[in-house]
Amino acid sequence: MSQPEEYRPDPLTPVLTRRWLLPESWTLRHYTELGGYSALDTALATDPADLVALVKDSGLRGRGGAGFPTGMKWSFIPQPKPGEEPTEATKDAPQFKPKYLVVNADEGEPGTCKDTPLMMADPHSLIEGCIITSWAIRANFCAIYIRGEIVHAIRRLHYAVKEAYEAGHLGQDIHGTGFDLDIVVHAGAGAYICGEETALLDSLEGRRGQPRLKPPFPATAGLYAAPTVVNNVETIATVPSIVAGGKEWFRTMGRERSPGPKIYSLSGHVERPGQYEAPLGTTLRELLEMAGGMKDGVPLKFWTPGGSSTPLFTAEHLDVPLDFEGAAEAGSMLGTTALMIFNETVSVPWAVMKWTEFYEHESCGKCTPCREGNYWLAGILQRMNAGQGTEEDIDTLLDVCSNVLGRSFCALGDGAVSPITSGIKYFRQEFLDLCQAQPAATERVLAGAH
Ligand code: NAD
Ligand code: SF4
Repeated sequence: MSQPEEYRPDPLTPVLTRRWLLPESWTLRHYTELGGYSALDTALATDPADLVALVKDSGLRGRGGAGFPTGMKWSFIPQPKPGEEPTEATKDAPQFKPKYLVVNADEGEPGTCKDTPLMMADPHSLIEGCIITSWAIRANFCAIYIRGEIVHAIRRLHYAVKEAYEAGHLGQDIHGTGFDLDIVVHAGAGAYICGEETALLDSLEGRRGQPRLKPPFPATAGLYAAPTVVNNVETIATVPSIVAGGKEWFRTMGRERSPGPKIYSLSGHVERPGQYEAPLGTTLRELLEMAGGMKDGVPLKFWTPGGSSTPLFTAEHLDVPLDFEGAAEAGSMLGTTALMIFNETVSVPWAVMKWTEFYEHESCGKCTPCREGNYWLAGILQRMNAGQGTEEDIDTLLDVCSNVLGRSFCALGDGAVSPITSGIKYFRQEFLDLCQAQPAATERVLAGAH
């Protein structure tokens, strides 16, 4: 595959964020000036199967949190064999159904702020990625499902899609290749669960967003029961750079099994909160250096590696490589690389209560462990934080968590208990201190206190 000479980013050059600080970086003119849409020509001149192989070999893994290999996901889309035509018997077979690309832009994980700034600053990188991906999987329709609350990003995306249509990058016969693609920007209604891919598909189809049973995975039965690739914004926006730069170049960044660049979002008690692009495997210690260190020099107490659905980490995890394997070895998923940083002034039981209240509110109610479990967990934590907890409550919390973890229908349930179990693991004394003044529950009942 030929590579355009003018666009070969240096490994140390930011890839995803390199246009972000330019004035009016979101316009088609600026995107094109910096090599934008040149990867599209390369891609459209490439056999779709070779594109799938390229992305597979690049090692790109999903940036939404779970890290599933992107090229492998694309390869699951059933395609007709060379020369295979539909017959009466096979016309409804998956390989002859329409294929869809759905972009998950419903960024809702607490602390996560990478896809929204990407769509604000560089929406055309996402659109170019959508066109290349749609060509690779032979889709003629792509939906970008975006959070309804981020009206500014929705408007920007609408504008960029309009620009792309006007420039002939979208619509009929793109670049004279005979390939047609339409992109629709669809705003959700603000439910966290609609970031779960099958709930998102239900919502897109006009139903109440609740997770579907998997398998079948969307790759075989997704939007309107047709083969569908669901990918995160950052994943898709990374694709043009792989087509332009090649798989070897992509693998010069990051680690063997987690290659490429990543946008880490840092929030909380840091001097310069914001988005930092760095190779996968970068540690919090290195990211803190980039972000000017802890705010006012007050020491770090705890942090989340990938939003509140990942376990709490402490200062002992400062050197954990933040990639899929590094996080797993330290007992966590990488998640959304939303690093929420808390200094020693913050109470762990209080922070854990706030997250649990969020999960209680956002539980879709479909399964009992999550719906009821989060209700009780939030109630117990509220009681403890109000100074009315007992030592027994700590065991009750852990007991309820063990009945939610692994017993819920989707990942929301598992994620919800992570801050509680890890909070108690690392900061049990703080939970105990909240209860010190209280007699055990049985003694209170005996004493007539309810
Ligand atoms: P998952 O591991 O079940 O699936 C990951 C992806 O791989 C999905 O697209 C799934 O369809 C695909 N997949 C997995 N096995 C497959 C198979 N055998 N065949 C075909 N496709 C297969 O994870 P998930 O439940 O989709 O996502 C959980 C992650 O979402 C967590 O890591 C969490 O951090 C993240 N998350 C992100 C946000 C956000 O705002 N970005 C919000 C909440 C959670
Ligand atoms: Fe709904 Fe929670 Fe069950 Fe997921 S785990 S299906 S969010 S109730």
